[in-house]
Amino acid sequence: MEQIEAEDFGLFISGLKFGAHRHRWQKRKDAEQTPYFNHPIDVAEILWRVGAVRDMAILTAALLHDVIEDTETKAEDVEHDFGKVVLSLVLEVSDDKSLSKETRKELQVQHAPHLSEGAKLIKIADKICNIKDVTYSPPPDWSLKRRMEYLDWAERVVRAMNGCNENLEEEFYRLLKEGREKVSDSS
Ligand code: NDP
Ligand code: ZN
Repeated sequence: MEQIEAEDFGLFISGLKFGAHRHRWQKRKDAEQTPYFNHPIDVAEILWRVGAVRDMAILTAALLHDVIEDTETKAEDVEHDFGKVVLSLVLEVSDDKSLSKETRKELQVQHAPHLSEGAKLIKIADKICNIKDVTYSPPPDWSLKRRMEYLDWAERVVRAMNGCNENLEEEFYRLLKEGREKVSDSS
């Protein structure tokens, strides 16, 4: 039985509290308007269960992966509460919101091979959760074409990180296939 250090658990539970607070008014884009923070929790859970990731800085950064991109949180806030390692992972997986959506999407593909190992793991888990959402709880106003394009783009990002974690990649490609079948069946 693996033991979790008290310090690691403390970091992780602080990440839960911080993320839940920062995202507290936000919703996902699905019809049910799921609370936003369910998503970072999903990402951390996938890393733990599917990827067998036990590095608490990576798991905590997964909980915080959208706080800089999607809330008013500053890098200094994350560094103050979680330190430089967690901050650096969060920054690696955050898009620059001053750029256009097209540019950000293209940069994700280009940057993916150069990310640290930890950031790659978070990015794959994030894409696993998002393709699941695009398949089973998509934004109601998205056409089938847009959903299919999202799956194609997510595949490009994950392909660029080949060989990072076998279990996560296997799960990604399984869900990608399922997603393509489901989305094309709906047409
Ligand atoms: P968005 O970037 O607008 O939304 C996708 C992101 O929203 C995900 O990566 C995820 O990010 C988050 N998200 C929240 N809730 C959900 C959910 N339920 N399901 C899926 N994702 C969710 O969309 P696109 O990826 O389509 O990017 C926009 C691009 O598409 C632009 O380039 C735009 O010009 C183009 N576009 C294309 C259209 C088309 O029909 N093909 C129509 C309009 C625009 P996170 O993990 O960060 O939360
Ligand atoms: Zn995300």
